[in-house]
Amino acid sequence: MTTTVIGLTGGIASGKSTVAALLAGRGALVIDADRLAREAVEPGTPGLAAVVARFGDGVLRPDGRLDRPALGRIVFADPLARRDLEAIVHPAVRARAAELTAAAPAGTVVVQMIPLLVETGQQDAFDLVVVVDAEPAEQVARIRARDGLGEEEALARLRAQADRERRLAAADVVLRNDGTPADLADRVDRFWAGLTGSPGAEIH
Ligand code: ADP
Repeated sequence: MTTTVIGLTGGIASGKSTVAALLAGRGALVIDADRLAREAVEPGTPGLAAVVARFGDGVLRPDGRLDRPALGRIVFADPLARRDLEAIVHPAVRARAAELTAAAPAGTVVVQMIPLLVETGQQDAFDLVVVVDAEPAEQVARIRARDGLGEEEALARLRAQADRERRLAAADVVLRNDGTPADLADRVDRFWAGLTGSPGAEIH
């Protein structure tokens, strides 16, 4: 049995983490790109050394860990600095994700959860691109509920992302998440059944 590698993406608060957790519960190996990005700049890593070489000691806290807010202020204000940071972190994340994928037993369904999969042009790197999609009004309501933000702040976060149409165009499978959590779980079950060849399989 070959390993199936899925790229899982979706807009902010679309339900990616929820879907990833459901898939993990069915037996998938979930690899979280955001987590790998944090690990890539832990103390002692080549990633952190490269960040300090580029941005200086000012991005380090007294305990030697990365001062994320300080680095965030620099890259938020300067697109070139942001590009440099991404040139350090993204290859490290991809290399680690590839390593974890290669280490999975044959037949494993590997799910790489990558919020900016489409924005970073990785859609061809996967056997299947799965997009979790919700109406923008739902996303705003969920961002507000989850992160305690006001309407304007929630809208600003939504607007900072690739547009929904582009994401949907890159999808092999769309998991809609406009209903209840139970509706989403049903969709994930049907998707999983289709993937693993269980009887009654149906992909939506
Ligand atoms: P993402 O990982 O895409 O940012 P999450 O899976 O964290 O999104 O979901 C965003 C928030 O919305 C979470 O608090 C989650 O529990 C909630 N949520 C997800 N799906 C639903 C749903 N169908 N109905 C209500 N709340 C949901």
